[in-house]
Amino acid sequence: MIRFLALTAVVALASARVSYEGFQVWRLEVSEEQKPAFSAILEKHNMDVWGRGKDWIDVLVDPKLRHGVMTSLAAKAIHSSIMIQDVQPLIERDFARLAKKNKDLKIAFDDYNTWEEIEAYLAGLPASDDRTSLVSLGKTVEGRDLWQLKISVGAGKKAVWIDCGIHAREWIGPATCLWGIDFLLNNYGSDEGATALLDAYDLYVLPVNNPDGYAYTWSDDRLWRKNLAVYPGNECVGVDLNRNFDDNFGGVGTSNDSCSLNYRGPSPASEPETQAVQAAITALAPEAAALFSIHSYRQLWMYPYGYTSDLPPDADELDRISAIGVEALTAVHGTAYQYGPVSTTIYPAASTTIDYSYALGITYSFTLELRDTGTYGFLLPAIEIVPTAEETWAGLIAAILAIP
Ligand SMILES: [Zn+2]
Repeated sequence: MIRFLALTAVVALASARVSYEGFQVWRLEVSEEQKPAFSAILEKHNMDVWGRGKDWIDVLVDPKLRHGVMTSLAAKAIHSSIMIQDVQPLIERDFARLAKKNKDLKIAFDDYNTWEEIEAYLAGLPASDDRTSLVSLGKTVEGRDLWQLKISVGAGKKAVWIDCGIHAREWIGPATCLWGIDFLLNNYGSDEGATALLDAYDLYVLPVNNPDGYAYTWSDDRLWRKNLAVYPGNECVGVDLNRNFDDNFGGVGTSNDSCSLNYRGPSPASEPETQAVQAAITALAPEAAALFSIHSYRQLWMYPYGYTSDLPPDADELDRISAIGVEALTAVHGTAYQYGPVSTTIYPAASTTIDYSYALGITYSFTLELRDTGTYGFLLPAIEIVPTAEETWAGLIAAILAIP
């Protein structure tokens, strides 16, 4: 009887979330000549693109569409290999472990945390640490606060902005932001890098740039990317916040289809999350030395532009700083990174955070794609959180300290 009840509970809990049972991640090798045909296949089957390289693309394949996708690919001689055999066990592994932890709303720096746990941790910090202050940049569609933590050990310093988690399913982002906050607060005065960084700069950290989407990845759909905007007349929910900035709106790599993962929204900065972040970046711009927007996955360190393959005026200097960041990052655990402009290093994408901040005059604007390179993709095992955060912050600190 007890066994029966327990099973019922598991089924009830599990059924609250979208199941990806039998879904696989495939890596497709797509040559330049195959790209037009491949775009048509992608559109036909409406596949979720997980990652993209120069000559490959990772897609999530619905078991119901598997046969059709295989036929389409074979017709165009596109080679595929399986990266993830079944996505659902990876999702269940995390939720099963997480269900047993954090009953008391305590933050964990070596695991993923719910929005409520993150919010409670941030709210408690200023009370216990006089070097921190917390502000809400604004409210999300569903009324959550966009909390930004300022870390400052003295007045009159230039600012560095770091945001994580604009894409909901990229859980390693918020985990890395939170680990960094804890690392800096605990190691200022003892760790050379943490001390040099905070002696020179005030840090403005936005650990979760898309709280609604993030909460939704826990409650409903682990692979949700966008915010939760609902527009009458739109077939699907959500806007890709990193295609919604008021900079070359409607440009390359954005979609006007509400069901697309890259849906740009109805108008520039239509989303409350975008409006709040734009206002905060604009206000900080005169004193901002650098901005970093943290994503996953691909292990890339990138600078503007996303909207065009033209190089920005500061390309040489941004390339120099990227090289320093990557070298310091790789030195920690040997993780290989590539660096370069967004448009040619990952893919063209307009109306993003860093094109917006660069246009405002924040020269040192970067976006990072953290671990891994596709073995687990967005479902990065928790055991990789601390190593990822360690190497990322080593890279960030080295890059920031190299800014003249
Ligand atoms: Zn992203």
